Amino acid sequence: MSLSDLYLSFFYKKQLVFGLLSLLTFNALQAQSYSKNCFESKEYYNPSIQEELEIFTKAYIANQSNKAINRGKITIPVVVHIVTQGFERGITDEQVQSQITALNRDYNLENADINIVHPDFQDRIANVGFNFCLASVDPNGNPTNGITRRNTPIENVASDDNSWWYTPEEGQPAWDPEKYLNIWVTKVTLGFAGFATNPGQVSPDRDGVVIDPRFFGMDGLATPPFHLGRVGVHEVGHYFNLKHPWNTNCEENDFVADTPLQNTGYSGCPDMDESSCGSRDITANFMNNSEDACVAMFTQGQAMRMQAALIGARSGLLNGNSCEPYFPTVSGTEIKVYPNPASFYFCIEVGSSNLEQIPYFIYDIRGAKVEEGVVLPNSRQHFPTYRNGVYFIQFMNGLEESFVQKIVIRS
Ligand SMILES: [Zn+2]
Repeated sequence: MSLSDLYLSFFYKKQLVFGLLSLLTFNALQAQSYSKNCFESKEYYNPSIQEELEIFTKAYIANQSNKAINRGKITIPVVVHIVTQGFERGITDEQVQSQITALNRDYNLENADINIVHPDFQDRIANVGFNFCLASVDPNGNPTNGITRRNTPIENVASDDNSWWYTPEEGQPAWDPEKYLNIWVTKVTLGFAGFATNPGQVSPDRDGVVIDPRFFGMDGLATPPFHLGRVGVHEVGHYFNLKHPWNTNCEENDFVADTPLQNTGYSGCPDMDESSCGSRDITANFMNNSEDACVAMFTQGQAMRMQAALIGARSGLLNGNSCEPYFPTVSGTEIKVYPNPASFYFCIEVGSSNLEQIPYFIYDIRGAKVEEGVVLPNSRQHFPTYRNGVYFIQFMNGLEESFVQKIVIRS
Protein backbone atom coordinates (compact mmCIF):
# COMPACT_ATOMS: atom_id res chain seq x y z
CA MET A 1 0.00 0.00 0.00
CA SER A 2 1.59 3.24 -1.07
CA LEU A 3 1.75 6.23 1.17
CA SER A 4 -0.43 8.12 -1.23
CA ASP A 5 -3.20 5.75 -0.36
CA LEU A 6 -2.82 6.90 3.18
CA TYR A 7 -3.20 10.57 2.51
CA LEU A 8 -6.56 11.36 3.89
CA SER A 9 -8.38 14.06 5.54
CA PHE A 10 -11.68 14.14 7.22
CA PHE A 11 -13.89 15.99 9.60
CA TYR A 12 -14.73 14.90 13.02
CA LYS A 13 -17.93 15.04 14.93
CA LYS A 14 -20.11 12.18 15.95
CA GLN A 15 -18.41 9.96 13.52
CA LEU A 16 -15.39 10.16 11.36
CA VAL A 17 -15.90 10.69 7.71
CA PHE A 18 -13.15 9.97 5.33
CA GLY A 19 -11.82 11.85 2.36
CA LEU A 20 -10.23 9.08 0.42
CA LEU A 21 -9.40 5.52 1.22
CA SER A 22 -7.46 2.89 -0.55
CA LEU A 23 -9.57 -0.17 -1.18
CA LEU A 24 -7.39 -2.03 1.21
CA THR A 25 -7.98 0.39 4.01
CA PHE A 26 -11.59 0.82 3.17
CA ASN A 27 -12.22 -2.88 3.37
CA ALA A 28 -10.65 -2.89 6.75
CA LEU A 29 -12.98 -0.16 7.85
CA GLN A 30 -16.28 -1.17 6.37
CA ALA A 31 -17.35 -2.96 9.48
CA GLN A 32 -17.07 0.26 11.42
CA SER A 33 -19.69 2.19 9.46
CA TYR A 34 -17.48 4.92 8.17
CA SER A 35 -18.53 6.77 5.09
CA LYS A 36 -16.05 7.03 2.30
CA ASN A 37 -16.52 10.57 1.13
CA CYS A 38 -16.02 13.58 3.34
CA PHE A 39 -18.83 15.59 1.92
CA GLU A 40 -21.56 13.33 0.65
CA SER A 41 -22.57 12.70 4.18
CA LYS A 42 -23.52 15.94 5.87
CA GLU A 43 -24.88 14.70 9.15
CA TYR A 44 -21.69 15.50 10.94
CA TYR A 45 -22.20 19.16 10.21
CA ASN A 46 -23.95 21.41 12.59
CA PRO A 47 -26.21 22.65 9.79
CA SER A 48 -27.22 25.97 11.32
CA ILE A 49 -23.63 26.96 12.04
CA GLN A 50 -22.59 25.88 8.58
CA GLU A 51 -25.45 27.83 7.03
CA GLU A 52 -24.54 30.96 8.95
CA LEU A 53 -20.96 30.53 7.90
CA GLU A 54 -21.95 30.21 4.26
CA ILE A 55 -24.08 33.36 4.40
CA PHE A 56 -21.21 35.29 5.93
CA THR A 57 -18.75 33.84 3.43
CA LYS A 58 -20.91 34.73 0.44
CA ALA A 59 -21.38 38.28 1.69
CA TYR A 60 -17.66 38.64 2.25
CA ILE A 61 -16.81 37.43 -1.23
CA ALA A 62 -19.49 39.63 -2.80
CA ASN A 63 -18.08 42.69 -1.11
CA GLN A 64 -15.00 43.58 -3.07
CA SER A 65 -14.00 46.22 -0.56
CA ASN A 66 -12.95 43.38 1.63
CA LYS A 67 -9.84 43.24 -0.47
CA ALA A 68 -8.67 45.91 1.96
CA ILE A 69 -7.86 43.13 4.40
CA ASN A 70 -4.32 43.93 5.41
CA ARG A 71 -2.74 40.63 4.65
CA GLY A 72 0.79 41.68 5.40
CA LYS A 73 -0.15 41.95 9.03
CA ILE A 74 -1.96 38.69 9.50
CA THR A 75 0.00 36.37 11.71
CA ILE A 76 -1.69 33.36 13.18
CA PRO A 77 -0.33 31.99 16.44
CA VAL A 78 0.13 28.25 16.32
CA VAL A 79 0.66 25.81 19.14
CA VAL A 80 1.89 22.34 18.26
CA HIS A 81 1.04 19.61 20.76
CA ILE A 82 3.25 16.57 20.36
CA VAL A 83 1.57 13.53 21.88
CA THR A 84 3.81 10.48 21.94
CA GLN A 85 2.86 6.99 22.99
CA GLY A 86 4.99 4.86 25.23
CA PHE A 87 8.55 4.75 23.98
CA GLU A 88 7.73 6.23 20.62
CA ARG A 89 10.15 8.86 19.46
CA GLY A 90 8.74 12.37 19.41
CA ILE A 91 9.50 14.83 16.67
CA THR A 92 12.09 17.56 17.00
CA ASP A 93 11.47 21.27 17.37
CA GLU A 94 13.12 21.62 13.97
CA GLN A 95 10.50 19.39 12.36
CA VAL A 96 7.81 21.57 13.94
CA GLN A 97 9.47 24.71 12.62
CA SER A 98 9.68 23.15 9.15
CA GLN A 99 5.88 22.83 9.08
CA ILE A 100 5.52 26.51 9.98
CA THR A 101 7.99 27.33 7.19
CA ALA A 102 5.93 25.26 4.73
CA LEU A 103 2.71 27.00 5.76
CA ASN A 104 4.28 30.43 5.33
CA ARG A 105 5.67 29.44 1.94
CA ASP A 106 2.43 28.10 0.51
CA TYR A 107 0.04 30.63 2.07
CA ASN A 108 2.16 33.50 0.75
CA LEU A 109 2.76 32.20 -2.76
CA GLU A 110 6.44 31.80 -2.11
CA ASN A 111 6.56 28.26 -3.48
CA ALA A 112 8.73 27.87 -6.54
CA ASP A 113 6.72 25.07 -8.14
CA ILE A 114 3.64 26.80 -9.56
CA ASN A 115 4.81 25.63 -12.99
CA ILE A 116 3.06 22.33 -12.23
CA VAL A 117 -0.25 24.19 -12.45
CA HIS A 118 -1.86 23.94 -15.89
CA PRO A 119 -1.58 27.22 -17.89
CA ASP A 120 -5.39 27.46 -17.89
CA PHE A 121 -5.32 27.96 -14.14
CA GLN A 122 -2.25 30.13 -13.69
CA ASP A 123 -4.37 33.26 -13.32
CA ARG A 124 -6.35 31.67 -10.52
CA ILE A 125 -3.34 31.08 -8.30
CA ALA A 126 -3.81 32.98 -5.07
CA ASN A 127 -1.65 34.54 -2.45
CA VAL A 128 -3.73 33.80 0.65
CA GLY A 129 -1.61 36.16 2.73
CA PHE A 130 -1.66 34.33 6.05
CA ASN A 131 1.51 34.13 8.11
CA PHE A 132 1.96 31.58 10.85
CA CYS A 133 4.21 31.63 13.89
CA LEU A 134 4.82 29.37 16.82
CA ALA A 135 3.20 31.13 19.74
CA SER A 136 5.62 33.03 21.96
CA VAL A 137 3.14 33.56 24.79
CA ASP A 138 1.05 30.79 26.33
CA PRO A 139 -2.56 31.15 27.57
CA ASN A 140 -1.28 32.12 31.04
CA GLY A 141 0.86 34.92 29.66
CA ASN A 142 4.11 33.05 30.08
CA PRO A 143 6.80 32.73 27.41
CA THR A 144 6.68 29.57 25.35
CA ASN A 145 8.28 28.07 22.28
CA GLY A 146 4.79 27.19 21.02
CA ILE A 147 5.34 23.45 21.44
CA THR A 148 3.93 21.17 24.12
CA ARG A 149 4.95 17.58 24.68
CA ARG A 150 2.99 14.82 26.32
CA ASN A 151 3.65 11.15 26.60
CA THR A 152 0.61 8.95 27.04
CA PRO A 153 0.30 5.26 27.82
CA ILE A 154 -2.81 5.09 25.65
CA GLU A 155 -2.53 3.61 22.18
CA ASN A 156 -4.45 4.95 19.22
CA VAL A 157 -4.83 8.43 20.65
CA ALA A 158 -6.17 9.67 17.34
CA SER A 159 -8.08 6.93 15.66
CA ASP A 160 -11.80 7.24 16.07
CA ASP A 161 -14.62 8.76 18.04
CA ASN A 162 -13.20 7.37 21.24
CA SER A 163 -9.87 9.04 20.76
CA TRP A 164 -8.00 10.98 23.36
CA TRP A 165 -5.61 13.36 21.68
CA TYR A 166 -7.20 16.44 23.28
CA THR A 167 -8.18 15.10 26.71
CA PRO A 168 -6.36 16.25 29.83
CA GLU A 169 -6.19 12.66 31.05
CA GLU A 170 -4.61 11.00 28.05
CA GLY A 171 -3.68 13.69 25.56
CA GLN A 172 -2.94 17.37 25.46
CA PRO A 173 -5.83 19.82 25.89
CA ALA A 174 -6.20 22.58 23.33
CA TRP A 175 -5.01 26.04 24.13
CA ASP A 176 -7.84 28.55 23.80
CA PRO A 177 -8.92 27.83 20.20
CA GLU A 178 -10.20 31.38 19.87
CA LYS A 179 -6.62 32.60 20.13
CA TYR A 180 -4.45 29.78 18.84
CA LEU A 181 -4.47 27.40 15.92
CA ASN A 182 -4.00 24.08 17.71
CA ILE A 183 -2.11 21.40 15.80
CA TRP A 184 -1.67 18.02 17.42
CA VAL A 185 1.06 15.79 16.07
CA THR A 186 0.41 12.23 17.05
CA LYS A 187 0.16 8.82 15.51
CA VAL A 188 -3.02 8.82 13.46
CA THR A 189 -4.14 5.24 13.13
CA LEU A 190 -6.30 3.53 10.54
CA GLY A 191 -4.10 4.79 7.77
CA PHE A 192 -4.81 8.48 7.89
CA ALA A 193 -2.41 11.31 7.40
CA GLY A 194 -4.44 13.76 9.37
CA PHE A 195 -7.73 15.51 9.80
CA ALA A 196 -9.07 18.93 10.65
CA THR A 197 -12.19 20.71 11.78
CA ASN A 198 -14.21 23.35 9.96
CA PRO A 199 -15.03 26.42 12.08
CA GLY A 200 -17.72 25.85 14.68
CA GLN A 201 -18.26 22.18 13.94
CA VAL A 202 -16.81 20.58 17.03
CA SER A 203 -16.54 21.45 20.69
CA PRO A 204 -13.69 23.89 21.29
CA ASP A 205 -11.57 21.38 23.15
CA ARG A 206 -10.90 19.42 19.97
CA ASP A 207 -10.97 22.24 17.45
CA GLY A 208 -7.92 22.26 15.22
CA VAL A 209 -5.75 20.01 13.13
CA VAL A 210 -4.31 16.55 13.83
CA ILE A 211 -1.41 15.22 11.74
CA ASP A 212 0.63 12.06 11.90
CA PRO A 213 4.36 12.78 12.41
CA ARG A 214 5.25 11.04 9.14
CA PHE A 215 3.19 13.59 7.23
CA PHE A 216 4.14 16.66 9.23
CA GLY A 217 6.62 19.30 8.12
CA MET A 218 9.65 18.79 5.92
CA ASP A 219 12.18 17.41 8.32
CA GLY A 220 12.80 14.55 10.74
CA LEU A 221 10.14 11.86 10.47
CA ALA A 222 8.40 13.44 7.47
CA THR A 223 8.36 10.76 4.80
CA PRO A 224 8.25 11.11 1.00
CA PRO A 225 6.05 11.61 -0.89
CA PHE A 226 4.52 13.66 1.92
CA HIS A 227 7.62 15.50 3.09
CA LEU A 228 6.96 19.06 1.89
CA GLY A 229 4.57 20.09 4.63
CA ARG A 230 1.55 20.04 2.36
CA VAL A 231 -0.61 17.73 4.41
CA GLY A 232 -0.46 20.55 6.93
CA VAL A 233 -1.23 23.10 4.21
CA HIS A 234 -4.28 21.02 3.18
CA GLU A 235 -5.53 20.47 6.74
CA VAL A 236 -5.14 24.12 7.67
CA GLY A 237 -7.23 24.82 4.56
CA HIS A 238 -10.03 22.76 6.11
CA TYR A 239 -9.52 24.60 9.38
CA PHE A 240 -10.25 27.81 7.46
CA ASN A 241 -13.44 26.35 6.01
CA LEU A 242 -12.20 24.86 2.74
CA LYS A 243 -13.74 21.65 1.51
CA HIS A 244 -12.56 19.11 -0.99
CA PRO A 245 -13.19 20.24 -4.57
CA TRP A 246 -14.71 16.97 -5.71
CA ASN A 247 -18.09 15.31 -5.63
CA THR A 248 -18.66 11.92 -7.20
CA ASN A 249 -21.90 13.18 -8.78
CA CYS A 250 -20.19 16.15 -10.43
CA GLU A 251 -22.15 18.47 -8.17
CA GLU A 252 -20.85 21.53 -6.38
CA ASN A 253 -19.01 20.48 -3.27
CA ASP A 254 -16.71 23.23 -2.08
CA PHE A 255 -18.79 26.38 -2.71
CA VAL A 256 -15.83 27.91 -4.50
CA ALA A 257 -16.62 29.60 -7.80
CA ASP A 258 -13.27 29.11 -9.52
CA THR A 259 -12.65 25.44 -8.81
CA PRO A 260 -14.06 23.32 -11.66
CA LEU A 261 -16.49 20.52 -10.89
CA GLN A 262 -14.48 17.40 -10.24
CA ASN A 263 -15.74 13.88 -9.66
CA THR A 264 -12.80 12.39 -7.87
CA GLY A 265 -10.15 13.39 -5.40
CA TYR A 266 -6.77 13.07 -7.05
CA SER A 267 -4.03 11.13 -5.36
CA GLY A 268 -0.56 10.06 -6.42
CA CYS A 269 0.80 12.49 -8.97
CA PRO A 270 -1.88 13.24 -11.56
CA ASP A 271 -1.20 14.70 -14.97
CA MET A 272 -2.09 18.39 -15.29
CA ASP A 273 -4.35 17.51 -18.24
CA GLU A 274 -6.73 15.34 -16.24
CA SER A 275 -10.36 16.27 -16.62
CA SER A 276 -13.75 15.20 -15.30
CA CYS A 277 -17.33 16.46 -15.31
CA GLY A 278 -16.72 17.91 -18.76
CA SER A 279 -13.82 20.22 -17.90
CA ARG A 280 -10.16 20.21 -17.00
CA ASP A 281 -9.45 19.79 -13.29
CA ILE A 282 -7.00 21.67 -11.12
CA THR A 283 -5.02 18.59 -10.22
CA ALA A 284 -2.39 20.69 -8.43
CA ASN A 285 -4.92 22.17 -5.99
CA PHE A 286 -3.74 21.85 -2.39
CA MET A 287 -7.19 20.51 -1.51
CA ASN A 288 -6.71 17.40 -3.62
CA ASN A 289 -5.09 14.42 -2.01
CA SER A 290 -2.16 14.31 -4.41
CA GLU A 291 1.44 13.87 -3.29
CA ASP A 292 3.22 16.90 -1.87
CA ALA A 293 5.31 17.51 -4.99
CA CYS A 294 2.17 17.46 -7.14
CA VAL A 295 0.12 20.20 -5.46
CA ALA A 296 1.07 23.86 -5.57
CA MET A 297 -1.86 26.25 -5.37
CA PHE A 298 -4.99 27.59 -3.80
CA THR A 299 -7.40 29.40 -6.11
CA GLN A 300 -8.50 33.01 -5.61
CA GLY A 301 -11.90 31.71 -4.58
CA GLN A 302 -10.41 29.40 -1.99
CA ALA A 303 -8.27 32.26 -0.66
CA MET A 304 -11.32 34.50 -0.24
CA ARG A 305 -13.18 31.72 1.52
CA MET A 306 -10.33 31.31 3.97
CA GLN A 307 -10.08 35.06 4.50
CA ALA A 308 -13.81 35.13 5.25
CA ALA A 309 -13.31 32.37 7.82
CA LEU A 310 -10.46 34.28 9.40
CA ILE A 311 -12.26 37.60 9.77
CA GLY A 312 -15.49 35.80 10.73
CA ALA A 313 -15.60 32.57 12.65
CA ARG A 314 -11.92 32.56 13.48
CA SER A 315 -11.37 36.27 14.07
CA GLY A 316 -10.10 35.65 17.60
CA LEU A 317 -6.83 34.59 16.02
CA LEU A 318 -6.30 38.15 14.87
CA ASN A 319 -6.72 39.73 18.26
CA GLY A 320 -4.05 38.09 20.30
CA ASN A 321 -0.47 39.17 20.62
CA SER A 322 0.78 35.64 20.98
CA CYS A 323 3.20 36.01 18.09
CA GLU A 324 4.93 39.11 19.29
CA PRO A 325 8.38 38.86 20.76
CA TYR A 326 8.08 38.31 24.45
CA PHE A 327 10.00 40.78 26.58
CA PRO A 328 9.38 39.68 30.12
CA THR A 329 10.78 41.34 33.15
CA VAL A 330 12.66 40.27 36.21
CA SER A 331 11.59 42.42 39.15
CA GLY A 332 10.30 45.02 36.72
CA THR A 333 13.49 45.01 34.65
CA GLU A 334 12.86 44.54 30.96
CA ILE A 335 15.29 42.24 29.22
CA LYS A 336 15.41 41.87 25.45
CA VAL A 337 17.16 39.15 23.50
CA TYR A 338 17.65 39.85 19.79
CA PRO A 339 17.90 39.32 16.88
CA ASN A 340 15.92 36.10 17.00
CA PRO A 341 16.64 33.98 15.03
CA ALA A 342 20.28 35.02 15.27
CA SER A 343 23.00 34.28 12.74
CA PHE A 344 26.36 35.55 13.95
CA TYR A 345 25.70 37.14 17.30
CA PHE A 346 22.83 38.01 19.61
CA CYS A 347 22.38 40.76 22.18
CA ILE A 348 21.00 40.77 25.67
CA GLU A 349 19.79 44.25 26.54
CA VAL A 350 18.82 45.08 30.10
CA GLY A 351 16.78 48.11 31.17
CA SER A 352 17.09 50.03 34.39
CA SER A 353 16.75 47.95 37.51
CA ASN A 354 17.07 47.92 41.24
CA LEU A 355 19.07 44.76 40.87
CA GLU A 356 22.83 45.06 40.76
CA GLN A 357 23.16 42.16 38.40
CA ILE A 358 21.03 39.43 36.87
CA PRO A 359 22.48 35.92 36.56
CA TYR A 360 21.75 34.00 33.38
CA PHE A 361 22.13 30.40 32.24
CA ILE A 362 22.02 29.28 28.62
CA TYR A 363 20.93 25.72 27.81
CA ASP A 364 20.76 23.82 24.57
CA ILE A 365 17.70 21.87 23.53
CA ARG A 366 18.85 18.79 25.43
CA GLY A 367 19.13 20.79 28.63
CA ALA A 368 22.93 20.88 28.67
CA LYS A 369 24.32 24.13 30.02
CA VAL A 370 26.19 26.04 27.32
CA GLU A 371 27.14 29.17 29.20
CA GLU A 372 26.41 31.15 32.33
CA GLY A 373 27.20 34.60 33.62
CA VAL A 374 25.60 37.85 34.73
CA VAL A 375 24.15 40.81 32.87
CA LEU A 376 24.07 44.32 34.31
CA PRO A 377 21.32 46.95 34.36
CA ASN A 378 21.37 49.55 31.57
CA SER A 379 23.66 47.46 29.46
CA ARG A 380 23.77 45.68 26.15
CA GLN A 381 25.97 42.67 25.84
CA HIS A 382 26.90 40.88 22.59
CA PHE A 383 27.24 37.12 22.44
CA PRO A 384 28.78 35.13 19.60
CA THR A 385 26.37 32.43 18.46
CA TYR A 386 26.66 28.72 19.02
CA ARG A 387 25.99 25.81 16.71
CA ASN A 388 22.67 25.99 14.86
CA GLY A 389 19.75 25.03 17.03
CA VAL A 390 17.32 26.19 19.68
CA TYR A 391 18.66 27.52 22.98
CA PHE A 392 17.04 28.72 26.16
CA ILE A 393 18.34 31.60 28.26
CA GLN A 394 17.20 31.58 31.85
CA PHE A 395 17.43 34.82 33.81
CA MET A 396 17.34 34.64 37.58
CA ASN A 397 16.37 36.89 40.44
CA GLY A 398 17.30 34.94 43.51
CA LEU A 399 15.58 31.59 43.67
CA GLU A 400 11.99 32.70 43.40
CA GLU A 401 11.74 34.46 40.10
CA SER A 402 13.14 33.59 36.73
CA PHE A 403 12.11 33.58 33.14
CA VAL A 404 13.28 31.74 30.09
CA GLN A 405 13.76 33.24 26.66
CA LYS A 406 14.11 31.00 23.63
CA ILE A 407 16.61 31.89 20.94
CA VAL A 408 17.08 30.19 17.60
CA ILE A 409 20.57 30.13 16.10
CA ARG A 410 20.54 29.76 12.35
CA SER A 411 23.70 30.76 10.55
ZN1 LIG B 1 -9.05 16.98 3.23
